[in-house]
Amino acid sequence: MSLRIKIISLFMISLLLTSWIAFLIIQHNLKQNYREIEHKEAISQLNHLVRNIDDDLVQLNQMNADWAVWDEMFLYTQKPTNQFTDSQVNPASLGTIGVTFAFIQDRNDRTMFFETSYNVRTRQDSLTIFSKVLQDVKWVSIRLLPSFQNCGIDTTELGAVYVCWQEIHMTNGAGDGGTLIFGKLIDNAVLDRLTSNTGIRFTLQPISPSEAKVPGKSIPLFDADSIQFGDEQSNQLSAKLFNIMGQHVFEIKLNYSNEISRQGDTIKSAIMQTIVAVILVNAAILLAGFHFILIRRLRRMVKELNSVQKSNNWTGFITTYNDSDELHEIGQAINQMFVLIRDQTSNLEQVANTDSLTHIGNRRAFTDRLKMELARSTRDESDLALLIIDVDCFKQYNDYYGHLAGDEVLKQLGKSLTEIACRPTDFVARIGGEEFAVILQSTSRGGAIHIAKALIDTMAHLRLAHVKSSVSDFVTISIGVTVFEGEDLLALMKRADDALYMAKKTGRNRFVVLPEADSTEPH
Ligand code: GH3
Ligand code: MG
Ligand code: MG
Repeated sequence: MSLRIKIISLFMISLLLTSWIAFLIIQHNLKQNYREIEHKEAISQLNHLVRNIDDDLVQLNQMNADWAVWDEMFLYTQKPTNQFTDSQVNPASLGTIGVTFAFIQDRNDRTMFFETSYNVRTRQDSLTIFSKVLQDVKWVSIRLLPSFQNCGIDTTELGAVYVCWQEIHMTNGAGDGGTLIFGKLIDNAVLDRLTSNTGIRFTLQPISPSEAKVPGKSIPLFDADSIQFGDEQSNQLSAKLFNIMGQHVFEIKLNYSNEISRQGDTIKSAIMQTIVAVILVNAAILLAGFHFILIRRLRRMVKELNSVQKSNNWTGFITTYNDSDELHEIGQAINQMFVLIRDQTSNLEQVANTDSLTHIGNRRAFTDRLKMELARSTRDESDLALLIIDVDCFKQYNDYYGHLAGDEVLKQLGKSLTEIACRPTDFVARIGGEEFAVILQSTSRGGAIHIAKALIDTMAHLRLAHVKSSVSDFVTISIGVTVFEGEDLLALMKRADDALYMAKKTGRNRFVVLPEADSTEPH
């Protein structure tokens, strides 16, 4: 896996992990907080609604109290007259003060009077329906101090009603005239008014009544313990309402606004987007940084190293840039190694191509050079001459003068060869024990003969004593000379050897040129 893929993978993992953690934190904290705020808001809406219901009850209670503590009402309980009921407690007057039905109970809790402003088929039907409320009030009244609670909600088959009751007595507080009970049906008009007053949409649904509580304390309108929130989508809050007997008889359901959660979600996704954007921008900057600082330079380094290695030419350098960082140092170290390898390679080549005794080229260098020069002459059709030189009677020289003296002769001969074949294109080598070769590039037969002559003359001038020589008193050489005529290396070498052989055979201390021209010119 490349360094780039590894770094990108690492970034991707870190990016995903960071986003995921950020998402979890946001999801957990923000969502929870917004929902809590929303629930509190919903409960305060419920309270607001219940306060409005309570206001209705306060109003009914006020009306009930006004009528109960009224001399004429008291007098009626003492001495009922149709005149009072016809003129004061008739359906129209009840309707005017917003009362659906009224009961007047005497001191012995017998119903003296019933009237309703609400038309249910017959008066008897109404009485039957609203008597249920009367029974409930009686149930409460005998269990509760009359002053403790005298208002609440109750159920009828027509729906929920507000109900209030009050002892009837004189304006000055004297007398006990029984009880005045006012009821008000919570009809659609009431519900609509509550909705328009509070701005809260709600429903009031009867539920099967729970067990009646023995009232020993004030009964609230709704049971705070019964508050329930619907699932996340519904945004619904429900609470159970008590009737005057402390029974759960209604469920109030209201839809609260989920604006806060929605805004929370918007904020949450905005935060998430910001975090992801920040991480992405960071990742992009870091990746670009890595690319330019590290990857690009490493790739270039690898490419340059490969090309140097492939070319096997250690003269190349890799780019190090000017930054004083580790990559720069690695580059410099590699370049120093190149210099070392190059120097050692050239030293090795030098050693491998040089004859250690005479310090001129050896057979290996000679073969390489001859191949190259043959190719060049073939290509350019240029002249090429080859001389093979052999010391005459050298075995006897060694035997007589010793091997070290023989070496000195060889060194002297090598030196003379380089002095005579001194053009930059000339090449001199020791190709065997006492055998040398000279390659003369761009040299014709005549030029080669000239050099051969000069070599034999030089040996003569050196006058190196050789008393055992069968040819002369001094060291002499024989030379085989040949010129290139398009043949291959072996053929050229063979002809030069043949020429040398002929020179030896025909008396030594001379040169022979092959192929023969018009005349061979022995020395
Ligand atoms: P010819 O005239 O036919 O060339 O006879 P020669 O004695 O020169 O030739 P031969 O091939 O019989 O002997 C070559 C001798 O060269 C044998 C050896 O003693 C001597 N020789 C070869 N290499 C070296 C060397 O490196 N140093 C010395 N001192 N002598 C060497
Ligand atoms: Mg020889
Ligand atoms: Mg010899």
